[in-house]
Amino acid sequence: MAVQHEILSRLKPRIRKLGRPPGLAVVLAGHDPASEIYVRSKIKACAELGIFSEKLTPSETATTEELAALVEELNRRSDIDGILVQMPLPKHVDARRVLETVAADKDADGFHPMNVGFLVAGRPAPRSCTPAGIVELLKHYQIPIAGRHAVVLGRSDIVGKPMALMLLQENATVTICHSRTVNLPAMCRQADILVAAIGRAAFVTADFIQPGATVVDVGINRITDLAEAARLGRSDEFAAKGKAVVGDVNPLDVARVAGAYTPVPGGVGPLTIAMLMSNTVGLAERHQGAA
Ligand code: NDP
Repeated sequence: MAVQHEILSRLKPRIRKLGRPPGLAVVLAGHDPASEIYVRSKIKACAELGIFSEKLTPSETATTEELAALVEELNRRSDIDGILVQMPLPKHVDARRVLETVAADKDADGFHPMNVGFLVAGRPAPRSCTPAGIVELLKHYQIPIAGRHAVVLGRSDIVGKPMALMLLQENATVTICHSRTVNLPAMCRQADILVAAIGRAAFVTADFIQPGATVVDVGINRITDLAEAARLGRSDEFAAKGKAVVGDVNPLDVARVAGAYTPVPGGVGPLTIAMLMSNTVGLAERHQGAA
């Protein structure tokens, strides 16, 4: 069974035990096309699982104060267990302020500083969905983590940093690399587990990958140049759609050198939604005294 289906099927009996369905509010401000697709997938996943969901679509011109007030209102609602503010917010909005308005005990995305602190301290709390899904994936495929050298390429608050902390908690030896790291290919080549989360199309090439390593590709990059798509073996996708999606890892190189790897699209993406569902159910259990 695909790992995301396994995660979702583990949630079903937990949902059935609750007195009322878990509730997730999704705030989508503006009309970013990718965000609209992500939100649709999240709402669909809720419906399939029996989670109540509500989409709120404040106007693109909503101010930071208006969005914060909307979140405050959701914080007070007893039928809402989790709140997700879809990123990116319109440019004029102070995204950090809005995100930090989400109550820590309704933080479906695991971004609240208090929940990040719980992660650092190794205590249970909602966790950033993409890295949490990657840990589930590695465990599902019985990739040894303890004692292995994991290199995380990227240090964002939502992927790189929490990924490094979660791998550390699983007893990996962890190196974090970023745009100022010197001799990146050699650093990455030390990895038994390499997680690439930088947002640069096919940046990680064969010389970054230790033969036999496990490579997790988080990146989602749209290619709009035919020659580039052809170079990465994506001519067919480009011909059909006029664009192609690739990860941060060169798909041809990783298939040749890695021992195991996640493809883009289709690898890590669906796991993120499964972990969002998992966080929402966990929050509902806490609100209903079931955990
Ligand atoms: P950010 O842009 O927030 O962070 C990128 C990180 O990569 C930064 O730490 C940056 O370093 C580092 N970086 C950028 N360029 C280089 C470089 N040339 N060499 C080394 N390091 C570099 O991105 P996110 O973490 O939010 O996302 C990363 C990718 O993952 C994106 O493609 C995004 O779309 C995708 N993503 C996919 C998800 C999924 O569900 N599959 C979920 C979330 C993200 P520095 O800090 O020094 O600037």
